[in-house]
Amino acid sequence: MNQKNTFKFPVLTPIVHTWMEDLISRKNLINKNLNTYGSPLNIHCLHPFEQNIQFFKKECDTRFVKHKIFFARKANKCLAYAIQSANLGEGVDTASYNELIQCLDNGIHSEQLILTAAIKNKELLRLAVRKNVSIVLDNEDELDLLLDVVSQENKSANYQIRLGGFQVGDRKLYTRFGFDIEEAKSFICRIHKAHSNLNYEGLHFHLNGYSIEERALALEQCIALVDELAKSNITTHSIDIGGGFLMNYLQSKEEWNYFHFRLKEAAMGRSEPLTFQNDLLGMQLIEGTLHGQPLVYPYYNESAGPDFLATLLDFISPRYKVPLYKELNKRNLTLHMEPGRSLLNQCGVTIAKVAFRKRDSENNLLIGLEMNRTQLRSSSADFLVDPLHIPQNEKRPLDDNGVYGYLVGAYCLEQELILKRKIKFENHPQVGDLLVFFNTAGYMMHFYESQAHQFDLAVNMLYNQSNQELTPTN
Ligand SMILES: *Cc1c(COP(=O)(O)O)cnc(C)c1O
Repeated sequence: MNQKNTFKFPVLTPIVHTWMEDLISRKNLINKNLNTYGSPLNIHCLHPFEQNIQFFKKECDTRFVKHKIFFARKANKCLAYAIQSANLGEGVDTASYNELIQCLDNGIHSEQLILTAAIKNKELLRLAVRKNVSIVLDNEDELDLLLDVVSQENKSANYQIRLGGFQVGDRKLYTRFGFDIEEAKSFICRIHKAHSNLNYEGLHFHLNGYSIEERALALEQCIALVDELAKSNITTHSIDIGGGFLMNYLQSKEEWNYFHFRLKEAAMGRSEPLTFQNDLLGMQLIEGTLHGQPLVYPYYNESAGPDFLATLLDFISPRYKVPLYKELNKRNLTLHMEPGRSLLNQCGVTIAKVAFRKRDSENNLLIGLEMNRTQLRSSSADFLVDPLHIPQNEKRPLDDNGVYGYLVGAYCLEQELILKRKIKFENHPQVGDLLVFFNTAGYMMHFYESQAHQFDLAVNMLYNQSNQELTPTN
């Protein structure tokens, strides 16, 4: 038994894009902007966004699949990404009045926009109808409201139907969204007959979770519905497969597995806690037995982004016995997709300044950062990606055994942890040092950000790699 190995501290090494390495080597530039705009700073780069779009497109092009990508804006609020997507000939998936009107005001063409908002009030539907933006219908009340709006505006509207309730084996996938796949045909036929001012464009789904098989079976069931509708002379132009394409944050499978092993050891009391107050990240310890898995995003995975799409397109349909993409092509269908997180892969970092070091009442080292936990937060129980500590004084000696502590933030709560996980530092952080969190553009920096205590929201900046300039963006 190698005892030393058993007690190795688990690290989770991030994948870091070259622009991020370039940026973090310019400490003066970062310090200057932190002094001007405050901490934390969200720094963005559009180059990887463009790369990601090209990677997705390539998977479709090599299979001759007609396609359009609608970047899901909710994953990051910066307009720059929406505009970039449109400039590249793709689209934007909008989910609120403000998301939509900002895109329109910035000259994004209505054909490059869709509206999927979970709640669509009259004002929002009126905007979409006036501007000819395709509306993804979710329920009958929404349809009634849309009918009111089109008659008041004396206009027609383009719509797609959101579907749910797909059959996977002997399960029906749960969702609160959309119309049941089994009732969709009669519903679409009914609208088609009764309302000539509504133009049916296509089918839409967005599934919870990250299963390729569930998406493949949902797509297959949509294709079958397309054929059913065709029998009633209703032509479907597109099928939208939503988002949820995985993204990979981490370099090493071994590190990922080892972290999970050590977390369970800690949970059972067999090793030192790895998380604040031995937080089990969603597992449960009942009478000495651990139940469940950590409720965390699969930060390490091997079917990210374009690979995820390729696997879905090549999935052999149980019904048609050929890869799904061939069935799309056969029917001349355009594949729509709405990736959010995965298009933002490697697009953003969040940088914060160390405000204090102290010990809590259990003698844990706490590093206070000038930020709060809503500025680095997703629905995952923790962000399992190591931050980088950049000392202001590079000549400080390394600490042989490392220094271990927790990152805490500015909200006045006992549970105000930036990361629940204990972090290892090569040397003792000093006031004014920097902490860099990698790959935060997808959800982490914006989705849950709040302004308790009247703190300002973090400033967003674009990094221009060619002249090494940072400029504020919104
Ligand atoms: C959230 C959402 C997306 C984007 O999901 P990601 O996981 O970020 O790819 C796409 N479409 C709809 C309807 C959504 O609600």
